Amino acid sequence: DQVDFSNSFVDELRGEVAADARPRQVPGYCYSRIAPTPVAAPRLLAWSVPLADFLGLARPAAQGPAVDALAGNRVTESMKPFAARYGGHQFGNWAGQLGDGRAISLGELTARDGSRWEVQLKGAGPTPYSRRADGRAVLRSSVREFLCSEAMHALGVPTTRALSLVGTGDVVVRDMFYSGNPLPEPGAIVARVAPTFVRFGNFQLMTAAAEFDNLRALADYVIRHHYPELGEPSAAVYGHWFAEVCRRTAVMVAHWMSVGFVHGVMNTDNMSILGLTIDYGPYGWLEPYDPSWTPNTTDFSQHRYAFGQQPQVALWNLAQLARALTPLVPDVAGLNAALEGYRTTFTETRESLLRRKLGLTATQPDDAALLADIHQGLITSEVDMTVFFRRLSHLAAELREGEAGEEVKFQELVAAASYVPVPGPVHETLLAWLGRYARRLRQEPASGVEIRDAMLAVNPKYVLRNYLAQQAIEAAEGGDLSGIERLLHVLQTPFAEQPEHEELAAKRPDWARDKPGSATLSCSS
Ligand code: AMP
Ligand code: MG
Ligand code: MG
Repeated sequence: DQVDFSNSFVDELRGEVAADARPRQVPGYCYSRIAPTPVAAPRLLAWSVPLADFLGLARPAAQGPAVDALAGNRVTESMKPFAARYGGHQFGNWAGQLGDGRAISLGELTARDGSRWEVQLKGAGPTPYSRRADGRAVLRSSVREFLCSEAMHALGVPTTRALSLVGTGDVVVRDMFYSGNPLPEPGAIVARVAPTFVRFGNFQLMTAAAEFDNLRALADYVIRHHYPELGEPSAAVYGHWFAEVCRRTAVMVAHWMSVGFVHGVMNTDNMSILGLTIDYGPYGWLEPYDPSWTPNTTDFSQHRYAFGQQPQVALWNLAQLARALTPLVPDVAGLNAALEGYRTTFTETRESLLRRKLGLTATQPDDAALLADIHQGLITSEVDMTVFFRRLSHLAAELREGEAGEEVKFQELVAAASYVPVPGPVHETLLAWLGRYARRLRQEPASGVEIRDAMLAVNPKYVLRNYLAQQAIEAAEGGDLSGIERLLHVLQTPFAEQPEHEELAAKRPDWARDKPGSATLSCSS
């Protein structure tokens, strides 16, 4: 009750008032006011202490009024719950109105530093945008969204956050593998937190529906609240704003590529207008380095959203946003220049992140080739990126000082990081690359120890391996929350050694290779 919410989205944009949750088209509006539907028995399952501290919130007891609010069972005086209306391209096809079918925003609260954060309950019950679905989320996918949001933040990847994971006490029925045999699963709700959850698709739908007043109002709202540095909205400012969205999206995707994250469903309704990673569904983390890999079974025929496709797909999505903004920005050349800017920013950011991972500072003439050539070695040796870069960081001090026995150390590194047995001829590419890298490292001005420490600060030891998430989920489904707690703890400090959690840093075991849930995921959530 002490938490005071405001809601600029509701105060400033045109919305449908006093809505019920019957599925419908909602022409003319940016959102629908809709209250969460109460659940049977809310119980706090997990809590992000760093985010709560930042927001000035104390961890509540497992049950009680605060958890009731986080489950949608209690709407306080100051909350103005709503579901946003948006559309999007799904797998390349325009899908028309989608909207928040199971996410309900409660409003914004003010963090300790004065910034404002929207709090959104995912799985809070039906809205006018639920179409034929139930408005709910299962524990499985909620654990995955909760953990990954906080893990990505700790890695320095732009992302929406997650404050709480609450079990609902209700059962949700899902056909996880589209087997025709739907099964009951425990339900859950994640309280997600971001400055705003506005997506590319919000703008696309306004233009598709020829609602140009709403399009302008939404753009003005986003610029005034979230891009205030650009100044008062005008034709020129809309153009600068789009260029900035391109820039931020490029930075986000470069980070994904640098940590081995595959979003899995890069539909335009899953692209944040702030360049944040949003909507954690059938995402995954690369284990063998493979640009064609996706965890999303729905995408197995197309591989549209595979790891290596992500930079191109983000650009395609930005081009759809550009199209939607043409009523505001008649200067098509400017929009195209901004899309070009995406390429430049992506390439530069990707390169500078890779240079940091490799501990390279001053530029040398052969660096471009060295950076380009690492990928083939990682691919042919089916290298686990996380293990590889972490071990390379530890090795860097010796390599820099030119100590003897390099070849043996390279063999050990590849044996530790590769999913292909060592020795073997496939590793020649990577081993040759490592030799070049060691020679290059000796041209660095910094000492070996300095280089090593800088690399350890950017190459994580812990990422949310698919099978680890799945183990924590299975334990939680049986009532044991210790796996979630432990994973959350290491993922919030992914650059620290934490020897007591060594097994959470291990390469994926063989048994997890093709296991559903551990290696492959459906959109069912
Ligand atoms: P996604 O593929 O998860 O981004 O979801 C696409 C659309 O389906 C969005 O409009 C979601 O709000 C909606 N959606 C997904 N799952 C559900 C559900 N269980 N109930 C209602 N709407 C859903
Ligand atoms: Mg979505
Ligand atoms: Mg989703």
